[in-house]
Amino acid sequence: MNPQTLPEWFRPACREVEAAFAAGRLSHGILIHEDPGAGGLEFARWIAQRVNCRDSKRAPCGECQECLWIAADQHPDVTRLSPEEGSAYILTEAVRDLIADLALTSHGRGYKVAIFSPADALYLNAAQSLLKTLEEPPSRTLLLLVTSQPSRLPATIRSRCARLRLKGPGKAEAARFLEAARGAGPWDEALAATGAGPFELLDADPAALAKLRNDTLSTIGDIGSGKIQPPGVAARWADKSQLPDLPVRLACLEIWVTDRIRETASIRDVTHLSGQGRTPKICRLFELSDAIRDMRKLSLTSINKTMAVESLLWRWAQP
Ligand SMILES: [Zn+2]
Repeated sequence: MNPQTLPEWFRPACREVEAAFAAGRLSHGILIHEDPGAGGLEFARWIAQRVNCRDSKRAPCGECQECLWIAADQHPDVTRLSPEEGSAYILTEAVRDLIADLALTSHGRGYKVAIFSPADALYLNAAQSLLKTLEEPPSRTLLLLVTSQPSRLPATIRSRCARLRLKGPGKAEAARFLEAARGAGPWDEALAATGAGPFELLDADPAALAKLRNDTLSTIGDIGSGKIQPPGVAARWADKSQLPDLPVRLACLEIWVTDRIRETASIRDVTHLSGQGRTPKICRLFELSDAIRDMRKLSLTSINKTMAVESLLWRWAQP
């Protein structure tokens, strides 16, 4: 990654790596715990550049051959393992090949680096086969495991890695980053539509996301005021042509409900959230939140989407 475009929120984690590297105590296994979309893979590439850059005074310079190759995923000593397209898992054979390769000396004078992104896409047996490499790493070897869900990795792997936390930016900073990377657009709304981190939106169409969010929120407003009825909306949202938009619509709804819960909680004493002082409004919001979350899980199954969406939307309709 070019030092000029290094996101601000990377800096605390970069400083940790710098300090450990300067003191000669950089761990051979590093678990990069990122917030979703915070750029864990980019950060792993930054580490690979930091230890392999030819310009020792301003490493990573972002300009030398090593840095350029790493940025383009073409460095002979830096391997990235991610799931193949259409698969949720990293191939076990690819992990075995990698382990065999790590045992060989590097092509240059630098480090051999393996980046697993996301590391929770490793099959259990593939993860277990990394244990030996983590316990007895060949010299000048780095294993970087990127994940937003460390609990999904085996405890044996977690305990053998140093942990680095990569916290995501606030909404305003995320929007500024996307504007710098992609140009002007309704990035605030696009971020609010998905709840995703900025790196997940680098290839997104912000105008389309903003439009989808506005449509979703105005539709539930219309259902709430009785202007339209859930069955018609459910038929439209679950129609083949619009079905790919459903995950974003559900994300919009979940974020909308979470914001309402926050507003309601902030104007009432939190003790009202439990026990006898429980307010009907906040209870209803929590029920909605649970229902949306269930629907998000169900939407990945072969369930009848029209019926499921309709039953969710009835919750917004006037009693
Ligand atoms: Zn460089």
